[in-house]
Amino acid sequence: MTDVQLVMNAGSSSLKFAAYTAKGDKPVLKGKVAGIGRAPEFSATGAQPDALGELTPDTPHDEVVQRVLGWLTAHPEFGDIKAVGHRVVHGGRDFSKPVLVTDDILDQLTVLEPLAPSHQPHNLAAIRAVRGWKAELPQVACFDTGFHASQPKLNSMFGLPRSLTDQGVIRYGFHGLSYEYIARILPRHLGQAADGRVVVAHLGNGASMCAMEGRRSVATTMGFSALDGLVMGRRCGSLDPGVLLYLQQGLGMTIGQIETLLYKESGLLGVSGVSNAMQVLQDSTAPEAAEAIELFCLRAAQELARMLPCIGGLDALVFTAGIGENSDRVRAGICAHLEWLGLALSFDANAASDTIIHAADSKVQVWVLPTDEEAVIVGHMHDLVA
Ligand code: ADP
Repeated sequence: MTDVQLVMNAGSSSLKFAAYTAKGDKPVLKGKVAGIGRAPEFSATGAQPDALGELTPDTPHDEVVQRVLGWLTAHPEFGDIKAVGHRVVHGGRDFSKPVLVTDDILDQLTVLEPLAPSHQPHNLAAIRAVRGWKAELPQVACFDTGFHASQPKLNSMFGLPRSLTDQGVIRYGFHGLSYEYIARILPRHLGQAADGRVVVAHLGNGASMCAMEGRRSVATTMGFSALDGLVMGRRCGSLDPGVLLYLQQGLGMTIGQIETLLYKESGLLGVSGVSNAMQVLQDSTAPEAAEAIELFCLRAAQELARMLPCIGGLDALVFTAGIGENSDRVRAGICAHLEWLGLALSFDANAASDTIIHAADSKVQVWVLPTDEEAVIVGHMHDLVA
């Protein structure tokens, strides 16, 4: 039986997994449970949709992981799993590079759960579930914050008292595995411009941007938590902190209610009242849906512009992730707010979601490049487990 390495990406409402052979950079197995907590749906290479048994909105995340592991056990034809790699959202100050998980490291990562309450508990639950399944398997944690460790200190500071900065209340930034992948493939596409001033826009359910120079993170739109920056599917993005005081003191909301509001009921869903999914909003005739899309585009352009002083201009803009790779309407909407930079889109190339979508006379290159976080994780596993 072939030896394989398993990658798990346990998100707030989905579990993605993929298996790779030692040398392969393409997965031999790819699967996903989407809609956990709402309407779970399973899909995987060569599998029936009901292969995990009945999944309901009440099936908890850790049971979903258990069922996937049970399914893998029942299907040895996908290979003999020798190691498991995980996307872990928060590495805090201590973990900027991927690590082999030990008891001590798991404890340290658990302390960071309140910093990423929608993701970190699920990431760590997947690690614990694999331990319960096969305790001897080496497990690697790869951090979404890691890529941003290269940010200059000034770009990571808030205007808060120094004591809080010293305690780690700083801008960490997220989506680092996606940015690492794009940074790796940039030279293949952009040539020398890859090392110039590039903004990568990772626009999925969670959305952020990263300003790079020399293919290293210089600034990013997400901050201390994954709430900051752009308007997202369900998250509000940057917010006047005075609103939080008002919600608590003026409206009497509890901290739990505020957390739910900010993480689950805001963003595209809250503004439109229709859906958190961009594709659904685009198909909707409700004026609130159109307004939510316009707000998404304006806020994205504003967040991009906020980072430009950190890199001194813009040579290239790269769109990636579900919305970035697929929505010509959103790309056009964002770019329309950036024409003052000399950025001009090619209408036809954008409509076709080509790889290069800028017009011939554009002063800024604009690209659409699919991301692959799992490929980054498996690359780190090869390094660490070998
Ligand atoms: P995540 O991995 O963060 O869950 P994805 O990167 O899969 O998210 O992106 C999901 C988002 O992409 C959703 O808002 C979805 O509606 C949007 N999306 C996917 N395909 C399209 C499409 N063809 N047109 C517009 N939006 C799309």
